Amino acid sequence: MTEDQVRSIFTLARIKVDKLWQLTNKYWPDSYLKERAASPWWLVRSRIGLIEIGWRKRVISIDWRDCVVRGIVTEDDVTKDETHVHAWDEFKAIEYLRKLNQLWEAQCMQHGVNCPKAEHVGDGYLHDYADDAPFDDDGVKYCGRCHVAL
Ligand SMILES: [Zn+2]
Repeated sequence: MTEDQVRSIFTLARIKVDKLWQLTNKYWPDSYLKERAASPWWLVRSRIGLIEIGWRKRVISIDWRDCVVRGIVTEDDVTKDETHVHAWDEFKAIEYLRKLNQLWEAQCMQHGVNCPKAEHVGDGYLHDYADDAPFDDDGVKYCGRCHVAL
């Protein structure tokens, strides 16, 4: 898997990549030099935490054991538990990461702390861009970071 492919998968899963590192392929043994060189694995840091992703022989391994979020991301008949899943192709990898992102939002997201920061374009905002505290508009409270009603 190339860096561009990893970035595309995460973008389509709606998970913003903060940083990523190339890892040695963890499936092929040391003697499989060509296979290892052709198919590096990746460690991806996002708001969710650290996720490891890479091709085994026929499936993409996705492992989030270093994240706080826990959960089963699919009913598909694949190798899976609460911290990893095997995807048959890139489309399935995107689907499973989308679900993981939803689980993270349900389990770990706190408004005003780590919800997605809304950009301020133009003016007319009821609070400063740097102010993440809730604000009040006609008696309704809104999150100062993502601007959804609380
Ligand atoms: Zn929020």
